[in-house]
Amino acid sequence: MNILILGSGGREHTFAWKIAQSDKVKQLFIAPGNAGTAKTRLASGAMATNVNIAATDFEAVKELVLEKQIDMVVVGPEDPLVKGIHDYFLDDEQLREVAVIGPQKEAARLEGSKEFAKEFMERHRIPTAAYRSFTAAELEEGYAFLQTLQPPYVLKADGLAAGKGVLILNDLEEAKAELRNMLVEAKFGDASTKVVIEEFLSGIELSCFVITDGENYLTLPMAKDYKRIGEGDTGLNTGGMGAVSPVPFASETFVKKIEDRIVKPTISGFRKDNLPYKGFVFIGLIKVGDDPYVIEYNVRMGDPETEVVLPRVKNDLVELFEAVHRGTLDGVSLETDDRAATTVMAVSGGYPEAYEKGKEITGADDIEDSLVFHAGTLLENDKVLTSGGRVIAVTSYGKDFKEALQQSYGNMSRLYFDKMYYRRDIGFDL
Ligand code: ATP
Repeated sequence: MNILILGSGGREHTFAWKIAQSDKVKQLFIAPGNAGTAKTRLASGAMATNVNIAATDFEAVKELVLEKQIDMVVVGPEDPLVKGIHDYFLDDEQLREVAVIGPQKEAARLEGSKEFAKEFMERHRIPTAAYRSFTAAELEEGYAFLQTLQPPYVLKADGLAAGKGVLILNDLEEAKAELRNMLVEAKFGDASTKVVIEEFLSGIELSCFVITDGENYLTLPMAKDYKRIGEGDTGLNTGGMGAVSPVPFASETFVKKIEDRIVKPTISGFRKDNLPYKGFVFIGLIKVGDDPYVIEYNVRMGDPETEVVLPRVKNDLVELFEAVHRGTLDGVSLETDDRAATTVMAVSGGYPEAYEKGKEITGADDIEDSLVFHAGTLLENDKVLTSGGRVIAVTSYGKDFKEALQQSYGNMSRLYFDKMYYRRDIGFDL
């Protein structure tokens, strides 16, 4: 079959790498892709092809799907899902039969609106921080609610704000001022027309990934990512600087609690609420004492968690996706690799603030005993150049996360581009 992956990050290169291993694939396209996806070789020996169209340009995607007779579209990032790409396909006679991996628009609101997600959790009794949401007209009620809470105060813009819409503040007056900024001054544009204020939960975070056909589901290996730019988890938030899987502190008993209290009611909640869901659910969790709470839902895989989760899945990914599309995931069992996987992300100097692009990357092809996943890279005249903040992830296997990390770090030193930076302490808290 012919498959199209939408997106251009490390997550999409990992999808391409995994899909390329399936005998079922005839042609693989990635839009827009990166230098790593362009260099992906399929099991048949053929190469994958990058196509320079944006993942949110539905008409261009349609044209490509028809021209290349694409049977399956795997949606990497949230934007096209929140904008309704799955519904766009279902509403079009020529596209209706194409398998789209990713939820429909109504279900994608779980990521697109924090208030919607909180109401979903409340309705299905899924453990999460207590909350209330407010509009500009309710500013005074918002102030009053803040006064009832203990610091730190958690303020969240309701809509998508590129991972920047959450503020955690220690001071009540500052929290009030920020609430006003968000609601009245539109600090995050339309995304902060509504603000969710919630109770602060203190604990350690981890991520749970589920693949579902809307009825049945498989829970993929747990992972933990490292969001801050600086060692010891300090400094600004990034898209993610590294990840490990499995998560050492997620014991069997704890994972069972996640399954029973969170995953099951989430999937049955989709059914009860008529939320059409065929795709990945990314559940951001926090472990408070010995209990899991949901911090957020995302309606796609995480990055860089994908770079450690998919390498630990032994199933043919295309077969899994076919089962998702047909609604036959109950007939599939997940086979996981017992080894640990870790990834370390090399980023452009200056990221997540201003940084330069267009630096030549060398050494990636010399790395043979780790998996190299490209993120912000592009191919120009046979050279691989940096084209984003997060540039390349180096994933390794090991008998435990320490051994895997040692391997990733050993290989990082072979990789070079001007002003390359990476955290040397991934897994430091485990
Ligand atoms: P992302 O960039 O992961 O998509 P987001 O902007 O969608 O994030 P959240 O994941 O809801 O927002 O919150 C961002 C971060 O803020 C969380 O990863 C967590 O560290 C912290 N956080 C959010 N809610 C709480 C809470 N109730 N208690 C403590 N920390 C929280």
